[in-house]
Amino acid sequence: MAEPKTGELMEKIVSLCKRRGFIFQSSEIYGGLNGFWDYGPLGAELKRNIKECWWRSMTQLREDVVGLDASIIMHPKIWEASGHTSTFSDLMVDCLLTKKRFRADQVDPQSGTAYFYTGAIDETEGKESKDTFSVLVLPGKPVESARKTAKQFYQQRGLNNPTLLGERAEQAKDTVRYNPENGSLLTEPRPFNLMLKTYVGPVESVENISYLRPETAQAIFAQFKNVLETSRQKTPFGIAQMGKAFRNEINPRNFTFRSREFEQMELEFFIKPDEAVEAVAGGVAKPSGAGHPGEPQPNWGWQMWHQYWVEERIRFYESIGLPRVTLEEYWQKPEELAHYARATVDLLFKFPFGTQELEGIAARSDFDLSQHQRFSGKSMAVFDEDLKAAWPKLDAAKQVDLRERYFQSRLKYFTKTGETAEKADKQAKEDAEALTKGYYVPHVIEPSAGVDRLALALICNAYCEDQAPDEKGKLESRVVMKFHPRIASVKVAVFPLLKNKPDLVKKAKEVRDLLRPHMSVFYDEAGAIGRRYRRQDEAGTPFGVTIDFDTLGEKGPDLKDTVTLRDRDSMKQERVKIADLLPRLLGAIR
Ligand code: ATP
Repeated sequence: MAEPKTGELMEKIVSLCKRRGFIFQSSEIYGGLNGFWDYGPLGAELKRNIKECWWRSMTQLREDVVGLDASIIMHPKIWEASGHTSTFSDLMVDCLLTKKRFRADQVDPQSGTAYFYTGAIDETEGKESKDTFSVLVLPGKPVESARKTAKQFYQQRGLNNPTLLGERAEQAKDTVRYNPENGSLLTEPRPFNLMLKTYVGPVESVENISYLRPETAQAIFAQFKNVLETSRQKTPFGIAQMGKAFRNEINPRNFTFRSREFEQMELEFFIKPDEAVEAVAGGVAKPSGAGHPGEPQPNWGWQMWHQYWVEERIRFYESIGLPRVTLEEYWQKPEELAHYARATVDLLFKFPFGTQELEGIAARSDFDLSQHQRFSGKSMAVFDEDLKAAWPKLDAAKQVDLRERYFQSRLKYFTKTGETAEKADKQAKEDAEALTKGYYVPHVIEPSAGVDRLALALICNAYCEDQAPDEKGKLESRVVMKFHPRIASVKVAVFPLLKNKPDLVKKAKEVRDLLRPHMSVFYDEAGAIGRRYRRQDEAGTPFGVTIDFDTLGEKGPDLKDTVTLRDRDSMKQERVKIADLLPRLLGAIR
């Protein structure tokens, strides 16, 4: 079957999500709210499964990561320290005619003739506008279309019968200064802060402004010391958190891909600075090539840890049914990196609308904790016994070398904060001195993923159209969601062959009750069995269990208490003893 075209495929996916109850538009009965989505019965289960898989693999299956569940609204100082108040913004442009807003980097380049006007007059009413305006006209279109748009512009300025002044034409190539929808000039790009504001307390005053968190990560940094002291962890160790985040995105688009309310799953993995690793382990291992670097070692510096987390995250995606070939690793170029980042890898997924970011894995140096230390006045340094013990055993030249390198890295941080050279030097010297006694501010590796983007990637990846036989054996096309059993919303559907045979129904309910405590089960007795299978194929239920007359022993004792187990993808059916059903299914879904 021909691969559906991109737009068509996305339309089919969006429509299936609504039809089957995966994802609905928020507030749909009131016309919806742009950038907000609700998860229906199947979507809610899917999301829960994604989060549970992430939580299990990131915390419960590891010794070195603990969890946190922090509040959404936090002290506004947190967002000053993190840089969100001053710099968390996108450049936006507005259409001068319709006022429609675009993200500046999302305006498609266009070529054509740009017509410029110096103003307009309305002779009948004796009015004049000196506002300049410009319209882009695509090749082959007449100048009249520019004049029509320009007249609308001046009409909005109160000139009912405008006569355009100073018309001038110029060729424009790949310009992003015009609204692609109507050719009107856009405003100059200006920053727009993406944080959603609210007030805490009864008074709506400037002092009470608070923000809905735009990411979950900052709470991890802010609670770093509390977690460290209560969890008995020491570097290297991580804190994981998942939860809602909010961004007032200028152009929410591509279904749930860019929403204004979404969920994140973030890990901050705290490591020793390389200078401390070298002091303790005698050297710092460097990645020897691509691939998983294996079990963590004491001589790992930030590069090995970064590579380790990139690979761990890819393996996670594979374990829930996103094969490596559907993903791409994008290593940000030096000029794309945030000023504090040493390396960032974006894991991209091949969505039908393009290859786009699913998760970012950043080596963020000691920037975050240093910022909170500076803004809160509370020390974020840890005491490392191994470092304290190792330091005096180093030869003098090594001590000087490590101390100098650590001093330089701290000096770089303090200088970037805008401190005077003298103060930056003094603080960096203090920190270098503290290192020799076993103290440092940990560095961090941050794998940061979005739940909703992952749910969308899994939905896109699972969507499949193939052929299946109907009741009479005739092939018909079917839509099947080939979710990995680990994340499938419903794990197994249980069907009595016929609804009007009490013995079949009774037995089927027994099987349902046997499985229900262990997994999500859907019981369905309505309609022809083929149609019931088809409904579950669309829901992505990996297994179907049918109770028939053989189960009741009508064909002899051999088949008594056996059921047919149908595999969603191959549609193959096999006879399985009821007693074997639970271990068999548990093996597949865990
Ligand atoms: P983008 O460049 O796509 O805006 P970002 O680089 O700003 O994303 P991060 O701040 O690194 O994203 O956020 C980490 C993860 O959170 C992203 O990889 C993505 O999965 C998710 N995420 C971020 N913004 C949104 C959003 N508006 N809607 C849904 N998920 C989001």
